[in-house]
Amino acid sequence: MRKLQMVDLKSQYDKIKETVDASIQEVLDTTTYINGPKVHEFQKNLEAYLGVKHVIPCANGTDALQIAMMGLGLQPGDEVITADFTFAATVEVIGLLQLTPVLVDVEPDTMNISIDAVKAAITSKTKAIVPVHLFGRAANMDAIMKLAKEHNLFVIEDNAQAIGANHTSEDGTKSKVGTMGHVGATSFFPSKNLGCYGDGGAIFTNDDALAHMLRGIVNHGMYERYHHDVIGVNSRLDSIQAAVLNTKLPELDAYNAARRKAASYYNNAFASNPHIIVPAFDEKGDDHVFHQYVIRITNGKRDELLTHLQAQSIPCAIYYPIPLHSQKAYADDRYREEDFPVTNQLVKEVIALPMHTELDAEQLSFITETVNQFVK
Ligand SMILES: *Cc1c(COP(=O)(O)O)cnc(C)c1O
Repeated sequence: MRKLQMVDLKSQYDKIKETVDASIQEVLDTTTYINGPKVHEFQKNLEAYLGVKHVIPCANGTDALQIAMMGLGLQPGDEVITADFTFAATVEVIGLLQLTPVLVDVEPDTMNISIDAVKAAITSKTKAIVPVHLFGRAANMDAIMKLAKEHNLFVIEDNAQAIGANHTSEDGTKSKVGTMGHVGATSFFPSKNLGCYGDGGAIFTNDDALAHMLRGIVNHGMYERYHHDVIGVNSRLDSIQAAVLNTKLPELDAYNAARRKAASYYNNAFASNPHIIVPAFDEKGDDHVFHQYVIRITNGKRDELLTHLQAQSIPCAIYYPIPLHSQKAYADDRYREEDFPVTNQLVKEVIALPMHTELDAEQLSFITETVNQFVK
């Protein structure tokens, strides 16, 4: 059996080595390292793939979130509602901009932001909602957009984990996740569903004026050379990363299909295990693209399972072990434990198994048999 890895980037690279090496070589030969034609080409390709008017490439997914919030003109003291159960980047940039983060609980089935909890958290100071499409599963965008419209709020989609996923609205229209809110942000961190070979990110929007604003912010607030109209940042996708992404973008649907195939194998293997809750596929019109394959162990033995799998050389991880409201940096007297029953439960039960584009049947069978033998 091939060695098990949480993410197998080497086998994936071997399959595209020739094209990706040639594309990188082109950047080296032309020395167009920054803002070269590859970056523009990737921007256009991604706009076409996502069906969105504007893609603004930037340095990483965390910057993408921060720049999105800057572009919307959010001001210190504005409240921004986001999920308690996610990676810290989302709440970190809210804090950095001196906005007020308002963490709310998630839904048990999708592990995404709870619509009822968002509703309950809206005040006169609320300016934006940041749904995170966690683990590759789209948040309930129909309900979120409806709520945002009623309360005149911005929606910033954190799409770092769900690029390529489709959302089918109640009226039957299909859109790519990340393009439904006022603005979307993604990351091209190597292990993400569309990953480069370093850091990278992008912001998406259908709003022309906002796109113009964002293009200036990523470039020191310049709209004309050496004219600084707003305070910006330096956040660029470099040409070598764009070269990698141009090669990988045409593979994204196949990559996501491979992830879904592995997830479906896992789900079938665990279907009759009474102590395992598996992630739901494509419910309520939302595709799952399985950035992570996360199950819940309900017999209280999650930590023992983790140790057992590690001893069998099966990599696994806990995403995320501590709710954001319990983190030192984000603690706030406003939060009460009883407001986070789902997150508090999930952090004790979740475990992520190997998930990437190169898992084969032999590996999946070994992993699932090992888990089923231990969890019974
Ligand atoms: C990876 C990730 C980010 C940050 O992306 P970077 O490119 O690492 O800055 C933000 N939000 C979520 C949910 C992520 O998974």
